[in-house]
Amino acid sequence: MYIKVVTTTLMLVLAVSSLQAGWGQGGKRNGDGNDRQLESLTAIDAEQLTFLREEEKLARDVYDAMSDIWGLFVFDNISSSEQRHMDAVLKQLDQYGLIDPALQPGVFVNADLQHHYDSLVMQGSQSQLEALQAGAYIEEMDMHDINDMIASTQHQGLIDMYETLLCGSRNHLRAFVRQIENRGVVYEAQVMEQREVDLIVDSSMERRCGRR
Ligand code: MN
Ligand code: MN
Repeated sequence: MYIKVVTTTLMLVLAVSSLQAGWGQGGKRNGDGNDRQLESLTAIDAEQLTFLREEEKLARDVYDAMSDIWGLFVFDNISSSEQRHMDAVLKQLDQYGLIDPALQPGVFVNADLQHHYDSLVMQGSQSQLEALQAGAYIEEMDMHDINDMIASTQHQGLIDMYETLLCGSRNHLRAFVRQIENRGVVYEAQVMEQREVDLIVDSSMERRCGRR
């Protein structure tokens, strides 16, 4: 079962922030000195951005916890990348005057993400192999959810960011699966289709995610 995007809490956060900021009205200053017109944001875009900020945080927080327990470099490295993903989503939230849901490490507004955090950290505490499996699960879940987000928006700026995050996730999945298979285990898909996972892990690392 996948994470439900909309929760009552999130709806509340969005209702409050839309009252405060009037997102989607356009013409807001971008911070780069230009009064560029912003593409308008739908309520679904706003929900998805708010959810995604915490979903990227879930990845960062789980990897930081796994790094503390196991000291594996792969978790440090990918955690830094998740921080950049969180920053990219925050930039969009700020641009549209949406409230940042991110709390302290290991704590989530979204109850499903909180549950995932707790159970993935428990799983990953059992062994290095389980920690790597938890990492691969998170990457597959992210790609599944981000693909849904791309399918339900017309907003080109968001689509570009989603594509950059997907590229990062493909690299992260490759890194985790390589470590799993180095331990003599054949990796089986956990969220996505096996065929899709095979296509990703059998292709090489992408060096320029989000850069043209
Ligand atoms: Mn990510
Ligand atoms: Mn990732």
